Amino acid sequence: MKVIGLTGGIGSGKTTVAKIFEFLGVPVYYSDERARDLYFVPEIKAAVVDLVGPEAYYSPTALNRPYIASKVFSDTEMLAKLNDIIHPAVGKDFDEWLETQHAGFVLKESAILFETGIYKKLDGTILVVSPEALRMERIAKRDKLSDEEVKKRFKAQLSDEQKIPFAQWIINNDEEHSLIEQSLEVQSKILSGL
Ligand code: ATP
Repeated sequence: MKVIGLTGGIGSGKTTVAKIFEFLGVPVYYSDERARDLYFVPEIKAAVVDLVGPEAYYSPTALNRPYIASKVFSDTEMLAKLNDIIHPAVGKDFDEWLETQHAGFVLKESAILFETGIYKKLDGTILVVSPEALRMERIAKRDKLSDEEVKKRFKAQLSDEQKIPFAQWIINNDEEHSLIEQSLEVQSKILSGL
């Protein structure tokens, strides 16, 4: 079965696009959401506490994401170490999920497919792009962050311009072009092998 990546910067709208594909009958694996669950697997939790500190968890069932973000977004070495804990666990979890799927293709959604090199193992990648001002507005509204905090998160990822050469299909979420029409077009191209 074909595995197609679905990516885009924070606030680009990749989750919104993923929901549209699900509506069209395409199974979607949400890597970032699954990663959040995997933080509670005992050996992963122990490694995270060891790296970031016990403040990484509010309680046995609640992750202190703002604390983790504040540590890793200003320390690239720590971010790399955290990724080394989480990414292999997500890879294994994805392989298990894939075995249970039956479809023409599935989507693997993640904000950092290109940054991690994961895209190389996929059968192509869809990139959702969006003007930076719109992304800032969406994230500030959704996550109640200051412009400065949003910019810090942007800096930890590649820009749209840097990502475009790696993508096979682009979906423009500028709130002017229809996401449904673009998703249908990409779905039919993938199914027909274009
Ligand atoms: P993140 O990586 O930060 O989770 P994302 O790329 O998955 O972001 P979404 O969660 O899909 O992006 O969108 C971010 C916010 O912007 C959401 O609140 C979503 O409802 C809103 N949004 C996305 N696209 C549109 C759109 N075309 N029109 C209106 N609101 C939108």
